Amino acid sequence: MIVGPVTTAVIGVGHLGKFHARIHNENPRAALVAVVDSNAERAGALASELGCAALTDVNALPRDVRAVSIVVPTAQHASVAIPLLERGVHCLIEKPLAQSVEEADRILAAAERGRAKLAVGHVERFQPGLRKVRAMNLEPKFIECHRLAPFSFRALDVGVVHDLMIHDLDLILDLVGSPVESLDAAGGAILTASEDVASVRLVFANGARANVTASRASLQPMRRFRMFSGEAYVSLDFQKNYGVVIRKGPEWEKGRALLANFDPTTQAPGPEWIRDRVLSVEELDLSDMDRPLQAEIDSFLRAVQEDREPEVPGEDGRAALALADRIAREIRAQAW
Ligand code: NAD
Repeated sequence: MIVGPVTTAVIGVGHLGKFHARIHNENPRAALVAVVDSNAERAGALASELGCAALTDVNALPRDVRAVSIVVPTAQHASVAIPLLERGVHCLIEKPLAQSVEEADRILAAAERGRAKLAVGHVERFQPGLRKVRAMNLEPKFIECHRLAPFSFRALDVGVVHDLMIHDLDLILDLVGSPVESLDAAGGAILTASEDVASVRLVFANGARANVTASRASLQPMRRFRMFSGEAYVSLDFQKNYGVVIRKGPEWEKGRALLANFDPTTQAPGPEWIRDRVLSVEELDLSDMDRPLQAEIDSFLRAVQEDREPEVPGEDGRAALALADRIAREIRAQAW
């Protein structure tokens, strides 16, 4: 338990890290004392904006720093995080957790040795719509995800499975809560040497199924999530921060009975009857909820302050990475 703000730093303040640093600076749970970047100019500019120290070497971090965001390129995650975790510094590491499962295991072991909290930046867990849906405790039977992005010139050290699809893999693993029994993946390289488009069908031990499609060479962006369960159908649009849940309506039984014996020569009821009476359509109110990165960082700081397990622990980051590796391997084995 830590009473008052946690002394923090952000390591790597490039494209994403500067947002981490600004959020640390605004969050009352944190006292941001330093930003660290091997690019001195980048660290200096942000440090003067935020009124904290600029460092170029993680070894120069003040000893009283208790928690950090690690937002360096994935290839550097293990080398930056392991010494910090070993000396008990709590770490929020951006996704993917590491370059390989073997590296992820070394990060997990370091956290264990240092009794440090390890959270992974699977930020989609903190999407307002997703958080509401998770709280409904539905049992997913079928999930369908589309994550398509125009080419960004970023994350070129990994393929689209580890860059984009891994977000949905993490959501699905968390919601289904059952091991992947089999998978069938397809994909290919378009612009880079790695896969730029990928699609996979996952079959889980509990019978659930998921179809996941990702592209980083799309003309139009799309981030859609649909989930079918026995109790409800959920449709989320992460890009528009919009969500709708459809359940059985007051005339569900009547509607089913009518359709079971429907005589096509008779006058059919209008589609509004299905929408408003047979079904019950609820648009989710997502207006007052924190944006995902704010919520993710707040949740990490709260876990540190209150000595609780992070909402997205290191094991979850490892599981998403292991599944991404399996999918990417299958795609590469049958390269077009
Ligand atoms: P970036 O290249 O823009 O920034 C990385 C920064 O780290 C650079 O400024 C670089 O100078 C600095 N750096 C590199 N090695 C360092 C070291 N040893 N010590 C200190 N600084 C060092 O990269 P980015 O796009 O911000 O990505 C960073 C991480 O965030 C990656 O792991 C990436 O996968 C992840 N990411 C996650 C999301 C998401 O949706 N959660 C989105 C983008 C990036």
